[in-house]
Amino acid sequence: MPIRLTSNDLARISCSSCEGCGECCRGMDDTIHLDPYDIYLLCKNLDTDFEGLLRTSVGLHVDGGLVLPHLQMDKKTDACTFLGPDGRCSIHAFRPGFCRLYPLGRVYEDGTLGYFVTDSICPGGRSKVRIQKWLEVPDLPRYESFVLIWHDFRKEVQKELLSVSDGELMQKTALYILDLFYATPTAPGKDFYTAFPRRIKKARKDLGLASSS
Ligand code: SF4
Ligand code: SF4
Repeated sequence: MPIRLTSNDLARISCSSCEGCGECCRGMDDTIHLDPYDIYLLCKNLDTDFEGLLRTSVGLHVDGGLVLPHLQMDKKTDACTFLGPDGRCSIHAFRPGFCRLYPLGRVYEDGTLGYFVTDSICPGGRSKVRIQKWLEVPDLPRYESFVLIWHDFRKEVQKELLSVSDGELMQKTALYILDLFYATPTAPGKDFYTAFPRRIKKARKDLGLASSS
C-alpha cells in the first residue's frame, strides 16, 4: 500500500537532473486524462475552443459510459503534440493537472484528496520537494476542492449509467456531460471556479440526481 500524502508533505519526486529526454511525455496512449479545468486553461491560453483542441491535440475515450478527453499522442512520433523539439513541454505554464502531478498519483478517500508516489520511468535523480510547490497550481485549496467535486460527480454519473440498459439514454447522457463540462466555454471574464458549481447544479437537475451526494 503506497503511503498517502497531502499537499503539505515532502516527497522525493523532483527530477533534479532533468535533461529533457521527453520520456515522460511519450507513449502515453490515452492515459493523460483532461478535466474541465485543463480544457478551460488550454482553450484560454491557446486561444481556441474544444473543437479546435479535438482537431489538433486532444482525443476522446470512453470511461464507465462517459466520453472524456485525453491528450493525444502524435501518430508518427508517439509523443504528446505539445512536446517541443528540445524535449521540453511547450505549454509548461498551463500544462494539464496529470502532467503537473507526475510522478504522483491521486487518491480519493472518505471525501478527501491525497497523493502517492508512483513508479517513475524518469532516468534522472530525485530530490525532495513539498507537493504543493511541485504542483505549481495557483490557489491550490480551490483547485483541490474542484478536483474532488469533479471526481465524485463523475463517479456518481458513471454508477447511474451502469444501471441504465437504454443505449440511447446512455449516449445522450455521455454527450450531455461532454458538452456541458468541456465543449461549452466559460464566458469571457468569468471565473472558472465560480461557473463550475453552477454547472454541477444544472447537471444534477437535468439528470435527475439528488442535489448533493
Ligand atoms: S502537456 Fe507537456 S508535460 Fe504534458 S505530456 Fe504534453 S509535453 Fe508532456
Ligand atoms: S523523464 Fe525525467 S529526465 Fe526525461 S524529460 Fe521527463 S522529467 Fe526530464
